[in-house]
Amino acid sequence: MAKANYIRVIIDRAIYRELDYLVPEALSERVGVGSRVRVPFREKSALATVVAVLDHSEAKGLRPVEAVVGDAPTLSEELLELARWISAYYCCPIEAVMRSLLPQVIRRAEVGWKKQLFVQPAGKIDSEEVEKLRRRAPRQAELLEALSRLETPIRAADLLRQTSLDNQTLRALVKRGLAELREEAVVRDPHADEQFVATSNLVLNPEQLLALKEITQALDLPESTRPILLHGVTGSGKTEIYLQAIRAALERGRSAIVLVPEISLTPQTVERFKGRFAEAQDAVAVLHSHLSQGERHDEWHKIHSGRARIAIGPRSAVFAPLKNLGLIVVDEEHENTYKQEEAPRYHARDVAVVRAKIEKCVVILGSATPSLESYHNATTGKYRLATLTQRIDEKQMPLMRIVDLRQERRKEKAAAILSEKLRAAIADRLEKSEQTILFLNRRGFSTSLLCSNCGEARDCPNCSVALTFHRHMARLSCHLCGHIAAVPKKCPACGKDALIYAGFGTEKVESTVSHIFPKATVRRMDADSMTRKEAYRETLRSFRTGKIDILVGTQMIAKGLHFPNVTLVGIINADLSLHLPDFGYFQQELEFRERCDFPPFKHAILITVRSAHEGRAKLSAETLKRRLKEALPEEFLLGDATPAPLEKLQGQFRFHILIRGEAIMRLSRLVREALDKLPFPEDVTVTVDVDPYQLL
Ligand code: ADP
Ligand code: ZN
Repeated sequence: MAKANYIRVIIDRAIYRELDYLVPEALSERVGVGSRVRVPFREKSALATVVAVLDHSEAKGLRPVEAVVGDAPTLSEELLELARWISAYYCCPIEAVMRSLLPQVIRRAEVGWKKQLFVQPAGKIDSEEVEKLRRRAPRQAELLEALSRLETPIRAADLLRQTSLDNQTLRALVKRGLAELREEAVVRDPHADEQFVATSNLVLNPEQLLALKEITQALDLPESTRPILLHGVTGSGKTEIYLQAIRAALERGRSAIVLVPEISLTPQTVERFKGRFAEAQDAVAVLHSHLSQGERHDEWHKIHSGRARIAIGPRSAVFAPLKNLGLIVVDEEHENTYKQEEAPRYHARDVAVVRAKIEKCVVILGSATPSLESYHNATTGKYRLATLTQRIDEKQMPLMRIVDLRQERRKEKAAAILSEKLRAAIADRLEKSEQTILFLNRRGFSTSLLCSNCGEARDCPNCSVALTFHRHMARLSCHLCGHIAAVPKKCPACGKDALIYAGFGTEKVESTVSHIFPKATVRRMDADSMTRKEAYRETLRSFRTGKIDILVGTQMIAKGLHFPNVTLVGIINADLSLHLPDFGYFQQELEFRERCDFPPFKHAILITVRSAHEGRAKLSAETLKRRLKEALPEEFLLGDATPAPLEKLQGQFRFHILIRGEAIMRLSRLVREALDKLPFPEDVTVTVDVDPYQLL
């Protein structure tokens, strides 16, 4: 590392400024771009990331760095560049980006390696010595004998367990100078107890071969590569292509990241990747969101040190500190869980594409139902398109049936949930011992409680949505803020005993289906019935092994799960957020969006202004709108400050300003500048969402 005289840092707190510090002689060899340091800041000290090494600094009264944290730079220059891009694009201070880029346990550097005591003989042990010791201290002699048989140092705890001897005996041997203790770092491996059966590449079918060839060619020409959209139905062999593409990257001395939606990060997924790369125990690092701090520390270092060459994880794994990155896979690229709904409000798929550009590596976006944006990019030639049209097992795609409930609801009770057609189709599957999935995009027993007399719905007092009835709790609850209310006997508004339940949820479907098909095994899977992780796995296992005939659930069950025996999927009360593999639809939707200047034709920025005080929220939003009108050139389409569709959320009144335009970087900067100049009242919060997913 070059000698550093001065450094420029970003402090871990949002101060919107980079600061210079002096590097003391003693530390100068250890500091570089990407290093983590402790620096004096105001009256205290703070942790910071080095973003530049300087020969001189214009700043006055520079203070010296206090310490360097960790041995090697934490962030590569490429990741720093990515951080700056995210900050500029998503209109978000770089300090906040750093918080997403580095896990807290690495940033704070408070958790270290787990240390364990290892023991080995102090020198050569001859049998005479053992015998001499045996007369005076038989237990120590026994331990020494056991030690003499060792070829490598052993964990002291393991040795004591094997010999049934105690710590005191060991300490006595050490005191005599016959044994040595040493502390060593051991890795906390959340998968240490699992065995992974090694698998090898499958023989690809012609479509798969074509797709893989596209990818390996890109790997050989990383400078000129474009993102590859891999479009193939579930079960068409996309994951097999990912595995072979990763193998190809490794063979070229490069590493790989695989992003999967959190919900698809199942034991089966982990097993598939760990199994394929089982030859190197540490090759695959898995970044679950529920790792302990210690495990997270170890997995991160495993990647950072280069021992792990493949990182799998949800959204934030796009920041995995792999060196020599060759490939990023984004599975189920259309999933909206890739969008982070707090600052920095980045979209992991888009960040993956940018990181791939910075690192000159290949990016594959895989999906059975590509997002409109990616589909558009593939048709305009910005992305390459590889298509898999068949399921590997050549079974037909499960039949999909959409039941329009606005019509069905008018009919009678049970019929209102299962149409005649769907009911017959389920009966047919039961007959043939095939399985059915029914899903609807809502949980709870009924949707809401309505008064049939006055028409009042029971709304959440904090949010502008109706409360949902949950039968197992016999309560009403709000899905947005968690507010719970008792079920009233009479309408609180008009006092009449005329309350009815409108709409329905998964619980109701489950009980209706069980009622219609009493012999079938019906299970429900949604966020309410699956609060425990084991329950989720257990249900999946039973379904996979055929113990369940009909699985009822919310969208949770539609995500990346592959069940060969499912031949019927019923979508009940299908709503617009469902991703249906229907390109007719795509064409129409694209035309509509082009006419309206919506993404992917224009970028959008959604500003939300909220406060518990309605008037202040409104006034602030209107003031901001006026400032933006002055600051933004005509080319940007600036909307009015309007109440958000979800006007009240968690007790806060919300106003929206929507801006659209093409030059997103410029727009982001102008918005940031306008915001920085405006003093908002203390109880008003303003958030900026670039490429928003939710317009609520
Ligand atoms: P997807 O990721 O598109 O859902 P998978 O890669 O999981 O598809 O493939 C579905 C199933 O087919 C898996 O069990 C997989 O092992 C198997 N499979 C994939 N490719 C092949 C192949 N070329 N030959 C045989 N079986 C394959
Ligand atoms: Zn609420």
